[in-house]
This record gives sequence, structure tokens and C-alpha cells, in this order.
Amino acid sequence: MPLDVAYSLEIEDFIDADKAYEFYWSGLITNKKAFICPGDSCQAQVTCANIDEETQNMRVVPHFRIYGKHGEQCEIFNKIPLKILEMASEESSGEKKSVELSVVDSFILIRPSSYYEIRDKNANVDEEDLKKKINYKSKNLTYTLRQNGFISSVYSVRTIVSRYIRYFSDKSIESRLINISGKSVPYASFFKLVWEQNLENLPEDSLIYYGWAYIDRCDNGYKVKFKKKFKNKEGVILPVSFFISDNLIEKYPIKKLIIKRIASISSMSKPTGFVFIYGTPKLKKLATTSKECVNFALYNLDMVDVNKDSPMPKRK
Ligand SMILES: [Zn+2]
Repeated sequence: MPLDVAYSLEIEDFIDADKAYEFYWSGLITNKKAFICPGDSCQAQVTCANIDEETQNMRVVPHFRIYGKHGEQCEIFNKIPLKILEMASEESSGEKKSVELSVVDSFILIRPSSYYEIRDKNANVDEEDLKKKINYKSKNLTYTLRQNGFISSVYSVRTIVSRYIRYFSDKSIESRLINISGKSVPYASFFKLVWEQNLENLPEDSLIYYGWAYIDRCDNGYKVKFKKKFKNKEGVILPVSFFISDNLIEKYPIKKLIIKRIASISSMSKPTGFVFIYGTPKLKKLATTSKECVNFALYNLDMVDVNKDSPMPKRK
């Protein structure tokens, strides 16, 4: 049984690997080994692999790995569904579904303000305390799950990319859906490569557009210009770009990650990156030259993912 969820000793909560990754880069989690198995009365040590990697791709997607022995009652050990997940789904929606059964991720466009709040930051964990914490975790579980809804909620394009990679490699991608504001879309068709499409034929609904892009430093931020372009119906080429302001980066809880990724791109002689943005492309006319171009509005850094290399699996 793959481990979708582990218990973090540092934040005293159940989290998935994507959230662990965000918590690591926002400074809430500092030790990739400070996790234990989510199973009942189980203390098997768990490591969140690749949590400290700034990049992600088929080889370095963050995931939980178990070391040590499971407890006898542990559901993972006994290959039965986790009790905590049943409790959680009964609490939250009245529907019974576990992480394993759930094939729909909900993409929530605005993170709850409580997302980065943790109850008490726990710096050092000793063996003695562990038992108490395990009792504590089951009592607080439903509360936590309702607050954060980790089971299938996704708050960033980066996480969607990471899940896409994971579902692709476990071959479940065809049966995975993503739900946005009540509409479900197959994962595979939620991504659109920027590649000389006719702008008018693009769907009205927002999607994740992606591709290689030039990333140039400007006065107050970075201009990101896709290498490939769209076309209008006359076949005229329309450059596609968006802007990441320093202001936006400064306000972002995981700015350390963004800064590290962009810095490693900026150090290249021709700064280019592999970029994802969620949105709807909008046609704009430049006042000065009256030339047309296409722009994405970016209000929230969760809606963009910037990588040095393409994290996407190679299609055969
Ligand atoms: Zn276990």
C-alpha cells in the first residue's frame, strides 16, 4: 500500500507529501526524517524523500518511505484501509472514500488562511513523548482534517504538477480527475502546451498552460515569455507572457523555494525555464505599436510553477 499520508512529529499532524514539501520550504518542517507511519499505534519511522529538493521530476517527486517495523495493529502492515481516513471522510462529506479510492483531487484556488498555521511547533521529539503524541493525534484528527482537508485538496499548480508526475508513474493518470469549482476534468487534459494554437479555439475555462519560457529580470520582478506563441485567426503570431512581481514573491509563504528556483535560472547565460501557469489567456493590444499579444494575469504565486528543467514525464 503506498503511503499517501504520514504523521509529522514536528507539526503534530497528518499530512501528505505535497504539503510536507510546502511546509519544508516555508520553514515549518526542518527534518525530513521526523515522520511516523499513520497506522494505528504504529511508530514505524517514515522519511519524506526529496522534500529538500528544489526541483521535482519523475526521479525526485516528494514521497514517503517507511523504515523500521510496523506495529501489529497497523493498517498499512495489515493491508487494510487506514482508520483515520474513514473517520475523516465520514466527518467531512458523509461519503465514504479513502485516499486510495479517491481519484478526484479538488483544486482550491484560494488557500485557507489557516493553511500555514500550526498549533504548537515542536522542535525536539523524544521517545517518551511519542506515545502521548500518538494518542493526541487520534483525538485531534477529525478537527485537523476538517480544517485543512488534506485528503484531496490541492492548493497550488506546483502540487498539481507533482501529482501529475506521481499518477503518471503509478499508471493511474487515466482515471484521475481534478475538480475546480464543481467541474471535473481529467488530469491529462488539464494541461495545455503553448504551441501555436489559434487563440480563439482555446477553451474558455482556465487551464494549466505550460512550456519553455524566457525569464528576464526587470525593475520590479520577472517577465516570463513563452518560447512558443499563439496565433490569431489570421495566423498572426501572438507572443504569450506574464509577469511575476517582487511584491508577489515577497508575500508568498514558500518564497524560499521560488527564489531558489528563479535564482538558479537567472544564473544561466540565457535564462530559460519550464513554466506552468493556471489561467485564461487574454488578448491585449500594445498602446504604443498597436501590436497584439497574449497575457496571463497572476495574482497568486500558487497559480504558477517555475522549473529549471521540464518535470514532465517523457511521452513515448
Ligand atoms: Zn505502520
